[in-house]
Amino acid sequence: MSGVAFHAMVARASGALRTAGVIKGDRIAVQVAKSPQALAIYGASVAVGAVFLPLNTAYTPAEVAYFLGNATPRLFLCDPAKAAVLAGPATQHGCALMTLDGDGGGTFAEAMAGQPLTFQPEECGPDDLAAILYTSGTTGRSKGAMLTHRNLLSNAEVLAALWRFTPQDVLLHALPIFHTHGLFVASNVALLSGAEMIFLSGFDLNTVLRLLPRATVMMGVPTFYTRLLADTRFDRALVAGMRLFVSGSAPLLAETHREFEARTGYRILERYGMTETNMNTSNPYDGDRRAGTVGLPLPGVEVRIVAEAAGEVGVIEVRGPNVFAGYWQMPEKTAEELRADGWFITGDLGVMDTDGYVQIVGRVKDLIITGGYNVYPKEVELLLDAVPGVIESAVIGLPHGDFGEAVFAVLVGGDAAGALAAIAGDLARFKQPKAAVVVTDLPRNTMGKVQKNLLREQYKDWFAMPKQGGGPPP
Ligand code: AMP
Repeated sequence: MSGVAFHAMVARASGALRTAGVIKGDRIAVQVAKSPQALAIYGASVAVGAVFLPLNTAYTPAEVAYFLGNATPRLFLCDPAKAAVLAGPATQHGCALMTLDGDGGGTFAEAMAGQPLTFQPEECGPDDLAAILYTSGTTGRSKGAMLTHRNLLSNAEVLAALWRFTPQDVLLHALPIFHTHGLFVASNVALLSGAEMIFLSGFDLNTVLRLLPRATVMMGVPTFYTRLLADTRFDRALVAGMRLFVSGSAPLLAETHREFEARTGYRILERYGMTETNMNTSNPYDGDRRAGTVGLPLPGVEVRIVAEAAGEVGVIEVRGPNVFAGYWQMPEKTAEELRADGWFITGDLGVMDTDGYVQIVGRVKDLIITGGYNVYPKEVELLLDAVPGVIESAVIGLPHGDFGEAVFAVLVGGDAAGALAAIAGDLARFKQPKAAVVVTDLPRNTMGKVQKNLLREQYKDWFAMPKQGGGPPP
C-alpha cells in the first residue's frame, strides 16, 4: 500500500469516527488484530483529536471490562468474534461498540467505506492527550499512562534522526501494535520518516526469514533475535541488505549480542524505554554499541541514577519531553512516581558508567532482600548464564523463615547443583542461590519479558517445605 493509499485510509477512518460521534478528547478503546486498518484507526484517532487506547489482544473480557469502566471511551472497537461477549460491558459503561477483524472487515470497516478520501484534522496542542496505554503491571491494577502529542512526536523525531531513518528504509514490523514498542517506536518512526513497513501480523519465523532480504531495518524484542539465531537459515547473505537491528522491551543477553555479531556481522542496537516515558536511552548509531548496556540518554532526555553514592546501583529516573502526563484518574499513584519537578521514578534499577552508558540490573520490585542484604538478580543471572550448559536463568526471592527472602534460581539448561557450585567462588555467600531448579522455558509475556511474578507464585512454598533446604511444591 502506498503512502497516499494509507493516508486515504486514515481519512476514511477519521470520517467514520466523526460519524460515530467521536469528538476531541474522547477515548477510543481498541482490541483488534494487527492490520493496516488498525494502524489507520490510530492515525484517525490522532486526526480527530481523540485519545487512542489500544488493548492487548490477549486480555480477557473481564479485563477489557475493567479498562472500559476505567477509561469510559466513547467508542470500543473489537473483533467481531468477541462482540457478543463484550457488548454487555460496553453498554454498561456507555460506549458504542463497533467491530474490525484482522482482514479489514467488520462494522467499522463498513462505516469507513462510504467516507471521503480527505479529512481536515482537528487542531491539537502539544499538551493534548494522544493516547492512554495501560501498563502491563504485574502487581495491582493496570494504570493508564496518559501520553501527549509532545511525548509521542518528540520521541519519534529524536529516534528517527538518531537511527538515521529515511524514506528509502523498509522496516520489518513484526511487533504487536497495542504496546509502545510496536505502536510508537516502530510505527511512529517509520511514518514520520516516510519509510516503508512490512507489516506482519506477528513474528512467524519462516515469514520473517523470507522477508528479511527486502528490509533495511528490523525492530524486535530479544526473543526475535534468539529465535532467528536458532535457525541455520539465518546467515550473513540473508541480511546483506540490512542496515540496523534494534532490540528493546526486555534485556538482550550479552551472549546473544555477540552471537548475533559473529553470525551476521551486525551489532544489535539496544535501547531502553517504557510505556510511561517512550524511549529514554539508546546505544549510538555510530560509535560503541556496548553489549549488556542500554546505551546513552537520548538527546533532550535527562537520565539520573538515584543511589547512595556515585557509580552505585540505584533507581533510574527520567525527565524530558518524552515523560508522560500522569496516570489516568490516579492522582496519588501519579504523585508517587512522577516528581513535581518532572523526574519520573522508573522503578528500574541501574548503574551509569563514567561515559554515560546505562546498564539495567532489574526492577525495584524484583530486588531480593535476604537477611537484610540486597541482592540484584541480574548479578547472579549473569554468572549463571555464563556456566556451560545454562542457556538462561531467572533469579528470584522466595519467602524464607530465617532470611525473610531466600535467593532462588530457575535455570534453562544445565544442572542445578553443578551451576550453583560453579558460581560459588564468584559471589558472596548471601548472594548465592540457596536452591535451583532446571526448567525447559521461562514464562514470558508477549514483549519477551520474563514473568518473575509467575515464578515467585509457582515456587513460593519451596523453602516452607519441612525437609531441610526446601523442596518442590507438593
Ligand atoms: P513496558 O512499559 O511494558 O514497555 O515495560 C518497560 C520496562 O521494560 C522497563 O521499565 C524495563 O524494566 C524493561 N525494559 C525495556 N527495555 C529494556 C532493555 N533494553 N533492557 C532491559 N529492560 C528493558
